[in-house]
Amino acid sequence: MYKLENYITGKWISGNGEGQLLFNAVTGEPVALATTKGLDFKNILEYGRNIGGPGLHRMTFHQRGNMLKALALYLRNHLDKFYKISYQTGATKADSWVDIEGGIGNLFANASLRRKFPDEIFCIDGDSHNLSKNNTFMGTHILVPKEGVAIHINAFNFPVWGMLEKIAVNLLAGMPCIVKPATVTSYLTEAVVKEIIASKILPEGSLQLICGSAGDLLNYVTSQDVVTFTGSASTGLMLKKTPAILDNNVPFNMEADSLNCIVLGEDVTPDKPEWEIFVKEVRKEMTLKAGQRCTGVRRIFVPANRMEDMWKAIAASLAQTTIGNPLNEKVRMGSLAGRGQKSEVRGQIEKLLASSQIVYGSLDSVQVIDADADKGAFMSPVLLMNEKPFEAKEAHEVEAFGPVSTIMPYKTTEEVIALSKLGKGSLVTTIVTADHVTAKQYVLGAASHHGRILVLNNECAKENTGHGSPLPLLVHGGPGRAGGGEEMGGLRGVKHYLQRTALQGSPTTITAITNVYQQNANGKDPGKHPFKKYFEELEIGDQVITEKRAITSEDIDRFADLSGDHFYAHIKTTDFTGTMFEQQVAHGYFIMSIAAGLFVDSYEKNPVLLNYGIDELRFTKPVYPGAEIHIRFTCKEKLPNDKRVVEKPEDLKRGDDIDKGIVKWLVEFFDETNEITGVAIILTMVARKG
Ligand code: NAP
Repeated sequence: MYKLENYITGKWISGNGEGQLLFNAVTGEPVALATTKGLDFKNILEYGRNIGGPGLHRMTFHQRGNMLKALALYLRNHLDKFYKISYQTGATKADSWVDIEGGIGNLFANASLRRKFPDEIFCIDGDSHNLSKNNTFMGTHILVPKEGVAIHINAFNFPVWGMLEKIAVNLLAGMPCIVKPATVTSYLTEAVVKEIIASKILPEGSLQLICGSAGDLLNYVTSQDVVTFTGSASTGLMLKKTPAILDNNVPFNMEADSLNCIVLGEDVTPDKPEWEIFVKEVRKEMTLKAGQRCTGVRRIFVPANRMEDMWKAIAASLAQTTIGNPLNEKVRMGSLAGRGQKSEVRGQIEKLLASSQIVYGSLDSVQVIDADADKGAFMSPVLLMNEKPFEAKEAHEVEAFGPVSTIMPYKTTEEVIALSKLGKGSLVTTIVTADHVTAKQYVLGAASHHGRILVLNNECAKENTGHGSPLPLLVHGGPGRAGGGEEMGGLRGVKHYLQRTALQGSPTTITAITNVYQQNANGKDPGKHPFKKYFEELEIGDQVITEKRAITSEDIDRFADLSGDHFYAHIKTTDFTGTMFEQQVAHGYFIMSIAAGLFVDSYEKNPVLLNYGIDELRFTKPVYPGAEIHIRFTCKEKLPNDKRVVEKPEDLKRGDDIDKGIVKWLVEFFDETNEITGVAIILTMVARKG
């Protein structure tokens, strides 16, 4: 029997002893043994910190992002192998797609996030603040990677996605990790990690894998480590209380089980398209991955007068679900991940039956295609009905982690908001409604208790990503029972692995430290006009102070005619009583345009390829005829701009072959009193010399 290997301290190592036997969920045959006996967990952590950490810390966000992209592209070449193993976990092709390609998609999404970061090993977080009267003292925040290890303890249901969605985030942040998948499906995670390590794309030590018990790993965590847990609330709470976690204030991000709900809006009648949308969504949520999804719909709320129609419609829809061997193309729902999981789900249904009755499905029998129902971990979808949802607590407390859901009645939107909260915090809730007043009432009433809310109706049904799909760019995690975590969410997710430090000093010092020009810092003489410099030659702080330009009433009239903007404030004959202005005022965009006229240099071609846009533009003081405007123009920040990768040369667009970067410039407009009348951050695309 194949013994799964652990990838630790730079080697593939099997644990001692026999270990835990893992089974094919469809046939019941043994597939592998898993053991971590004899592993030195303290040493594994130290290896991550001492070998993996420094390798990643030396890389910039852009290098780490490109590394994730390379990894995603590499893994895409091994899909067949992963799918083959995934079938053994009971997953259908569609289930495996979510797990495998969804996981790889997550790597791509996090790779693209690099564009939101500088090409540095750290970044600035949020705005800078002037803290002094004379502009010599300021504050900002920086984010640096923590120096520990991210430990991911994962649930059994998504052995690939569960790993990739987490490691993508800590690797982009610059932290190494140790992955401990749930043992029962760890053979699939092991197969993926084998490919990741073989690719040599990640720096050594940045990913270690433990297949089996986590031993005493958590006893050795330090204050720089981060633990993320996905699994049942009971295990999560037990681990959260580990003395080393409490003593060292180790961040513990928990994604636990949750009693997610879906609500049929009061406006939805059987003749509306939303009726069918609701039925389909419920069926999908109950049967995809055989209901073993943390986001699965466990509670279905329906207006009391539609209960019978709706449970019958759901039952009829569930009856269409073909169950059996996931390798058979006709099969829509595979098995649970193992027989242990099946008996656990049955146990939970028994508890739910204290206050509910089964209206569809059976605990004892299931019809399967191309498989032996006694050997595999198959079960029928089970729809329960609870007619008194305020009286019975089970439906709001007991999670059956399988194709199981309970339908319940409600009378008003206020009532269903209260019912949704009886789950004490969930990952996601959906309301199906075409009525925007109902949607708003539900969203604002329920949001405090749910991590994500999907408002589903005919307008978005075709393209919506679904109740059950967490997205890398949106928060995944929920309050209370759901664990109180946020494991994804674009920049938010990455920041879990970064230390935020307030930084105070003079603008010039902070510019030197952060490599981002801070307003009021000393500028540098660029030697020549900065537009004549290539990307590599430009220095942060390169500054030009332009000559002055007088603003006349005729200029303003001509700009009004040219642009067609005849807003009353720009017309000299306006009676200005009761307005914000004393007299005819220049258009802000006119001042921005003359600013460009003042700072743009040369009629000849130069390394500036194009004007890329404006990030911020503020007009802070009116400019009247007679004012004299000059501009302070400073190189603020430089960002890399990767060459577009195309599959065929004919897809190349004009300029795609030019090596270039994006430069941000701080533009300050001054009047004749030396007061600032406006500020802008503009962007140019600048060619690289080499
Ligand atoms: P579980 O039994 O709580 O196990 C979760 C993880 O904890 C597994 O990797 C398990 O490893 C590990 N673990 C257990 N005891 C441990 C210990 N003493 N020290 C270190 N690690 C330990 O949950 P599960 O059965 O795998 O997953 C099903 C549950 O997860 C469901 O309740 C579901 O709702 C929840 N879930 C939540 C999310 C979410 O994002 N919120 C996602 C998926 C699943 P072993 O396998 O080796 O025991």
